[in-house]
Amino acid sequence: MTFQVSKDDGLFYRQTLFDQAKRVVIKVGSAVLTNDNGLDLAIIATIARQVSFLQSTGREVILVSSGAVAAGRKRLGIVKTPHEELKVKQALAATGQGLLMQAYEQAFSELEQPVAQVLLTHADLSNRGRYLNVRNTILTLFEFGVVPIINENDTVSAEELRFSDNDTLGALMTNMIGADMFIILTDVDSLYTGNPSTDATARPIYTVASITREIEKMAGNATSALGTGGMMAKIRAAKMVAACGGCSFIGPGKHPEILKALFSGELIGTFFLPGHGKINRRKHWIAYVLKPQGVLVVDDGARRALIEQGKSLLPSGITAIRGSFPVGAPVQCLDLEGTVVAAGLSNYGSGDLERIRGRKTREIAGILGRKDHDEVIHRDNLVLMVGEGQHPRGALQQEHFAS
Ligand code: GLU
Repeated sequence: MTFQVSKDDGLFYRQTLFDQAKRVVIKVGSAVLTNDNGLDLAIIATIARQVSFLQSTGREVILVSSGAVAAGRKRLGIVKTPHEELKVKQALAATGQGLLMQAYEQAFSELEQPVAQVLLTHADLSNRGRYLNVRNTILTLFEFGVVPIINENDTVSAEELRFSDNDTLGALMTNMIGADMFIILTDVDSLYTGNPSTDATARPIYTVASITREIEKMAGNATSALGTGGMMAKIRAAKMVAACGGCSFIGPGKHPEILKALFSGELIGTFFLPGHGKINRRKHWIAYVLKPQGVLVVDDGARRALIEQGKSLLPSGITAIRGSFPVGAPVQCLDLEGTVVAAGLSNYGSGDLERIRGRKTREIAGILGRKDHDEVIHRDNLVLMVGEGQHPRGALQQEHFAS
């Protein structure tokens, strides 16, 4: 089911949110940054000009830039193969990252705008101390008027420790520094109701008020040739940002004045309104930065207690445990239909949980010979994942309005 956001409402929200945005994260994909000859220096110059313009309006901007692998590939003349080994990609990234930064440095220095390179791995953000260090460094760069240019440190990221893509990295950065807006520049114009190359009735979606399953399904229609993430990853990223109260935009990065057009209120690309709930930074870290090490399946009673009554998760509501994890591990709670209901830190390891699942709290000590906690996940360490990304005006939902 789709609901209507009037064109005027959509434009009003867009303009207001762009006007108010003080801190902005802009992610640029490989497909935007490269052409047949490798890095597209003209596009990089255009982006640098627009980012400098935003800085000059008093905004703080982070660039999350892909393009290292693509640039390295061109430099070394290595043709992409379907099942390319990780070490090849890492070598290409190591070769290309320098070229990428050189191009940015050149473009920004002509505008007298200092930039900084920040390379991150998922492991850096999973460690609370390192996470806070990265945050402090970025805030200090802002104080100095520097534009941080962030990419994954591909050379040292082992497969299981990777961000899945730079869309995810960009969303994590947006939430980490409390940015108002996450702008994803890519090689597609917008999200469409269908696949525009095969479906003549496919229409662009200009405003998304809440990211429903229907919207996620539409994302399956679009692909991008060069990037890692595709539209699904972008929608997931927008959902993460909405959950923390920010808004997102997906639009055409090759458009020569895309940022200026956006900030002056042009109806272009797809805009995602902020969600109503603003979870705090620690909860964001638990739910979105940490990778779940296991799954707890919860029954309907527990599902209701978590969602409707704001309760902690008790052993009695757990019907199954998947994965092997220690005390304190990040886990996800799934309902009986397999929908992710919550994420949190488990007070018990998977072995103990197998023994106490479905049992009353008062039975824990008898079964385990000790009782560390009444709750399996205390409310303070639990983040609801349903209803996130919903807009405060419940009746206002996503809409497609073509111009
Ligand atoms: N880190 C990769 C690169 O610089 C890109 C990953 C992505 O596009 O999601 O090439």
